[in-house]
Amino acid sequence: MSKREKLYKLVAKYKKKLKLTDIAINIVIAEDKVQQFRKRGRKRKAVSDCYAEVIEESIDGKEFTIFIFKSAFEEDLEDTVIHELSHILLHPMRNAAENLITNMDISDKKKKKLFDKFDDQEHKVVNNIIKMVRK
Ligand SMILES: [Zn+2]
Repeated sequence: MSKREKLYKLVAKYKKKLKLTDIAINIVIAEDKVQQFRKRGRKRKAVSDCYAEVIEESIDGKEFTIFIFKSAFEEDLEDTVIHELSHILLHPMRNAAENLITNMDISDKKKKKLFDKFDDQEHKVVNNIIKMVRK
């Protein structure tokens, strides 16, 4: 099985497990994040990780693109796939948190601190999801 086939198989498997079947997910194997942002422009909020990045393609949260970096194939690809799909699963919550924080009457520095805290918490949940669904 080629790397690409393995990747598509993993995405299909965990998309089903995480009940994301009504969401369209495009997969792009990318060189690195900088190149992708330059190429596509920052469409919508992206989740940016070490081995992948997620971009929301539609305003209703029904279509996303996962950019998997080539470096991901040297790491645990299964973990990376579940990780990025979990971000898609949690995306409505992240959106709501972002809206709340953005509209708060506090300094940008404090807003950033709150968002970083949210991001840390989201990653704790993501890591738990990986443990729960991976068999
Ligand atoms: Zn992440």
